[in-house]
Amino acid sequence: MIPRTLFTPEHETFRDSVRRFLEAEVKPNDERWQEQGYADKSVWKKAGENGFLCMSMPEEYGGSGADRLFSMVLIEEQARINNSTLGWGLHSEIVAPYLLNYGSDALKRKYLPKMASGDMVGAIAMSEPGAGSDLQAVKTTALRKDGAYVLNGSKTFITNGWNCDLVIVVAKTDPALGAKGTSLILVEAGTEGFRKGKRLRKLGLKAQDTSELFFDDVRVPAANLLGREGEGFVYLMQELPWERLIIAIRSVANAEAAIEWTLDYTRNRKAFGKSVFDFQTTRFKLAELKTEVQVGRVFVDRCIEASLEGRLDPATAAMAKCWCTDMHCRVIDECVQLHGGSGFMLEYPITRAYADARVQRIFGGTNEIMKEVISRTL
Ligand SMILES: Cc1cc2nc3c(=O)[nH]c(=O)nc-3n(C[C@H](O)[C@H](O)[C@H](O)COP(=O)(O)OP(=O)(O)OC[C@H]3O[C@@H](n4cnc5c(N)ncnc54)[C@H](O)[C@@H]3O)c2cc1C
Repeated sequence: MIPRTLFTPEHETFRDSVRRFLEAEVKPNDERWQEQGYADKSVWKKAGENGFLCMSMPEEYGGSGADRLFSMVLIEEQARINNSTLGWGLHSEIVAPYLLNYGSDALKRKYLPKMASGDMVGAIAMSEPGAGSDLQAVKTTALRKDGAYVLNGSKTFITNGWNCDLVIVVAKTDPALGAKGTSLILVEAGTEGFRKGKRLRKLGLKAQDTSELFFDDVRVPAANLLGREGEGFVYLMQELPWERLIIAIRSVANAEAAIEWTLDYTRNRKAFGKSVFDFQTTRFKLAELKTEVQVGRVFVDRCIEASLEGRLDPATAAMAKCWCTDMHCRVIDECVQLHGGSGFMLEYPITRAYADARVQRIFGGTNEIMKEVISRTL
């Protein structure tokens, strides 16, 4: 196999401590969280106490000032144990960077340390009932009035939505200007008029608290604007490649794990007097899958490298998201098949992985939108 060259011994030591934490604090509770439809908030605090949240934020804002590879390790390890419950990647590597990159110093000091400690859970609300792929169609407004923004509208499918304490809302500050009238506004849970809807029932990610959010005359200080008014769309376009790469990273790591579970299963499962692994069709199938995952791994690692050096372009990130999530679903589907009936039983990790993988091709921009992004560069 082509060795991975991204990580230093420090990252690998960190990987060991993440593994121990996930084994002790996450794995034993995951089944219960699946049943109840959300993870206990206490695990966020524990992750914060262990320094696992907002690691790449500067120390002055409560982070560890670590490079993003440490966050990558956490995302990979969550995928490896099939944990799709905790939106830590979104919280630490998507929501927090918006604050860091576009928030005022006062906002950073107020919120980032609480996000790093796990006292506050972050979310980002772009999608609406009538605006998903077409984000320019966002109808939520944030109109200026007496030194404040007044928000009206609703959002849907929001990851961490039910648990969130802080949400970045994509809203029109000047609806007449379309995309150029779009801004990013921070709203704290508990602000009058801000209501969380029900946790949405889903095919997979059962313990991920995906929610609707409602805004009825929600008044927030004008200082809660991130960056400049009307620039929201530009900021989204700047941050989305990284978000898409995170999805690709999860897909590759989970597909790698799926092959391991399937090797294990087929070696132990007997049929016609031998192990299922010993059928040539099984070995050839697993050889094909392993090849695909290896191809994805090398490409994604190069994308991570490019991203760390600030040169990951949107089209390449879109390729990684699109190809790796398609590959992830293909691999998991074949692995389910190799498990036979057990592949349909939730006591096997492959079954949950099958349900959870499907959304990878949808969120963060659908794979059709990824092809749009790529094709514009042809
Ligand atoms: C579990 C989950 C978590 C999510 N988390 C978040 C979150 O935290 N924050 C957030 O803001 N959103 C979140 N989303 C929303 C997600 O990003 C959107 O669902 C996604 O972008 C697709 O939008 P849509 O659902 O409106 O589909 P639509 O845009 O209605 O798309 C329907 C179909 O039409 C296709 N299509 C649309 N436009 C084109 C085009 N131009 N060319 C070709 N095909 C096209 C799509 O590819 C798709 O196949 C989440 C969604 C899910 C399911």
